[in-house]
Order: sequence, then C-alpha cells, then structure tokens
Amino acid sequence: MDKISIIVPCYNEEEVIDLFYPAVQAHVEKIPDCKFNYIFINDGSRDGTLDKLRELSAVHDDITYISLSRNFGKESAMMAGIDYADGDAVIIMDADLQHPPSTIAEMISWWRKGYDDICGKRIDRNGETRLKRFCANLFYAAMKKFSTSYEMQRDVGDFRLLDRRCIEALKLMRENQRFTKGLFTWLGYRKKEIPFEVQPRAAGQTTWNFLALFNLAMKGMTSFTTAPLRMMTFLGVTVSFGAMAYMIFVLMMAILYGDPVAGYPTLMTVMLFLGGMQLLALGIIGEYLGQIFYESKRRPIYLVDEMNGQKMIYSPRRVPIERDTQSSD
Ligand code: UDP
Ligand code: MG
Repeated sequence: MDKISIIVPCYNEEEVIDLFYPAVQAHVEKIPDCKFNYIFINDGSRDGTLDKLRELSAVHDDITYISLSRNFGKESAMMAGIDYADGDAVIIMDADLQHPPSTIAEMISWWRKGYDDICGKRIDRNGETRLKRFCANLFYAAMKKFSTSYEMQRDVGDFRLLDRRCIEALKLMRENQRFTKGLFTWLGYRKKEIPFEVQPRAAGQTTWNFLALFNLAMKGMTSFTTAPLRMMTFLGVTVSFGAMAYMIFVLMMAILYGDPVAGYPTLMTVMLFLGGMQLLALGIIGEYLGQIFYESKRRPIYLVDEMNGQKMIYSPRRVPIERDTQSSD
C-alpha cells in the first residue's frame, strides 16, 4: 500500500474548497493499492477558507490543514506542505481544479515505473493573453540561454508528483527567495512530463497579475543564473573598446585635418548611452544584492499559526536545523 499526500496551497479559495475534495476523491478512490491523504495549506486567506478547512478536516480524517500566520505566497505555502507531508510520494495541486484530478492515476503509474518527478505539462496556453504568452516565451528563451548547468522545463508548473527522495532533497533547500520550478529542475532525478489541459478555474479569481509574474520571473533569473552579471561585464568591455577606437579616430581627425572635435549632439548621445548602461548594470547588481540581503537574514520560509485546530508555536518539526526534540517525544 503506497501512501500519497496531496498538497493543496489555498489563498482565498472558499468557493472552490468544497468542490475540490469530492472532485479529487472521485478519481483517486479508483486507484488501487494507494492510500491518499490531503494537506491543505491556508496561505493567510482573507475570506472563509480557513473555516471551510476546519469543517472539512472535522468530517474527513484524511484531511490535515495547516494555516500559515499570514500570506507568504504560493511558493512558501507549497514548502509548508512539503515539510509536513508524510507520504511515500506527494502530489502538488492547485485548489481551483485547474489541474485535472484525472491525471493523477497516470502520474502514479509512471511513479511505479520508477520515475521520481512526474510533472504535468500544459498542452495549451489558450486561456492566456497574447502578452502573457509572449512574456512566457521570452522568459523560457532567456533562461535557456543563460543557465548552462541544466535546462528549465517548459510549460511545466507546480502540478506534479514527487517521490520521497525529491521531498527530502527539497527540504534541504531553505532559501527564502523560492522559485520552486527552478528547484524542481535543479533536483534532477528521473523526470517524466505528462501532458494535461489546463482547466478553467472552478470558481473564484486568480491572484496572479502581471507584476506578480514579472517578479517571479526576476526571482527565477536571479536565483538560478548569474549570466546577466557576466553579460554586463562583456557589454562594459565592448563599449570600452568602442570608446577607445572612437577616441583614436577623433584624435587623428584633429591632428591630421585640424577637424574640430565633434560637438554637442555626439557628446550628449555618448553621455546618455553610457549613463543608461551604468544604471542598467547597477540595477542588475542590485537585484543580486537584494537576493543576498533576503537570504542572509535566514528567516524561516513560513510560520504556522494553526494545524488541525491546534495553535502552533514555530515548529522545529520539519526544519532542517535539528533541535533537541527528543525529550518532548
Ligand atoms: N496561492 C497561494 N498563495 C498565494 C497565491 C496563490 O497559496 O499567495 C494558491 C491558490 O490558492 C491556488 C494556486 O496557488 O491554489 C494557484 O493560484 P491561482 O489559481 O490564483 O493562479 P493561476 O492558476 O492563475 O496561475
Ligand atoms: Mg489557478
């Protein structure tokens, strides 16, 4: 009998929670030799999500809920789920039923064939605007160009099944600025992509907007490659050589032909161009500095406020720095 934990991050999902459990249950009940449990993470919702979770967990004993002390973001919420999951494998799913539960059976069959990380690959980005699709393409292209060590998976999100050893490895990565998708790729192990069609949201509204996605993309860039820094170095060298060549040209013209040095427009252009370049370079350095700033604090990724009706003190239970928990056990 395999034990599988389904991790569901929820932020303002009161409308879909009641739909989610029966919809998934209907599919997983049919899967042989598997025992499922659910871990819902309430990521500081402002609506009735927590009450719904309390009700659900009171009725079904295969449901655990963890309520975070505030909204930490999906990446951190998923980490909470991963820390608390006790299955031989976990499946991460959105609460809004955009990830079809019918895919789970296939994921499990690949897992049993020996794959460690079975991810859903979206076969259509239809529901998305042109701009969003364009930006996604740009991001993947840039990541592919920049990161040499491994390749970012395309059109693959957080919908996936992870073997226990992936979970244990993820728990070692306690960085604050989490770009989970990159972390999954970083893990390696045996990956399998299976296609699925993104469903329309069952109810409620998406909390992602353009800015949030842009920030996530920046996070992805700065936490997985230092190529932009390197690029700035190359650009600096190139521009310096160009400037030197131009300087020689201007000098020669002045010496040989007594040509007056090129005037205001040239100066202005060069000055503005170089000024812009410097600001850009500084900005990029700043992005990395910001990452270092956040990481150096070593704050926990999330705080748990309540778990299955119990108030929680910051729990060292699943945190890698081992504390002396023996006496209390
Ligand atoms: N989510 C979360 N914390 C957040 C934002 C979102 O836990 O701060 C959850 C949300 O409840 C959902 C999943 O992440 O289960 C995906 O969010 P959403 O459906 O809003 O994004 P989209 O599917 O549009 O990318
Ligand atoms: Mg969604």
